[in-house]
Amino acid sequence: MANAPEPYEIYAIKYAQRNAMKAEHFIFSDAHDVPMPMDYYIWAIVGKKASYVVDTGFDAEEAARRKREHLRTPAEALQVIGLDAAKAEHVVLTHMHYDHCGNLAMFPKAKLYLQEREMGYATGKYMREEVMRHPFHVEYVVDVVRALYDGRVEFVNGVREIAPGITLHHVGGHTDGLQVLRVWTKRGWVVLASDATHYYDNIFRTNPFPIVFNVGHMLDGYRLINELADSPRHVIAGHDPLVMARFPAASPDTKGIAVRLDVEPLHWD
Ligand SMILES: [Zn+2]
Repeated sequence: MANAPEPYEIYAIKYAQRNAMKAEHFIFSDAHDVPMPMDYYIWAIVGKKASYVVDTGFDAEEAARRKREHLRTPAEALQVIGLDAAKAEHVVLTHMHYDHCGNLAMFPKAKLYLQEREMGYATGKYMREEVMRHPFHVEYVVDVVRALYDGRVEFVNGVREIAPGITLHHVGGHTDGLQVLRVWTKRGWVVLASDATHYYDNIFRTNPFPIVFNVGHMLDGYRLINELADSPRHVIAGHDPLVMARFPAASPDTKGIAVRLDVEPLHWD
């Protein structure tokens, strides 16, 4: 096909982790609670012409405040796969929760792709309520506003192709303006779902994560992700340690740190 987009490489890079219990991650939880840790990732989409960073994590200070184990900055994470944060031109923010939009000073040149609705949500009336604002960090929100005043925020409404083979799709649910990415790879269409599904069990057992703005939109999001991805194996959950377990390391040195998502998983257990 003459106009088929060039396939991209995609990486998940782990930057933090925390211990947690399974009951924390599902609206319907069974009585026998067991440990279920959470991983924190940024993602990178690497093409022949350009690279795209997806989300920017939190910093060590915020990790200490929230008792998360911080492993590396996004700049260090990107270095693992040979990318330079300072030179990054494109950063997609899936949403503005604290674990997805910090560290913006490390990306001084980047254009930020954000659903317009997310900025409205993060700066609007629901932030009067602790239950809604708890996963936000006001300094990170203000940093996005600073980038806006610097002319670097590219607002998206709904669906937008930002490059051949990369589209952004509004989902909402977890936050009002959450978006997912659909990316063309040599194994087909992969969906970086971010927090539209924290764990594989959220989407594939239809059991939502309990930090949620609109449960109905979250459920609609599961359907959309299944439509956009070529198969369940093409769905990348936002916080699931299974991502590190299922996909091959980017190189022998990056085991447990960075995996390739544009190649088939090693297993699906
Ligand atoms: Zn998150």
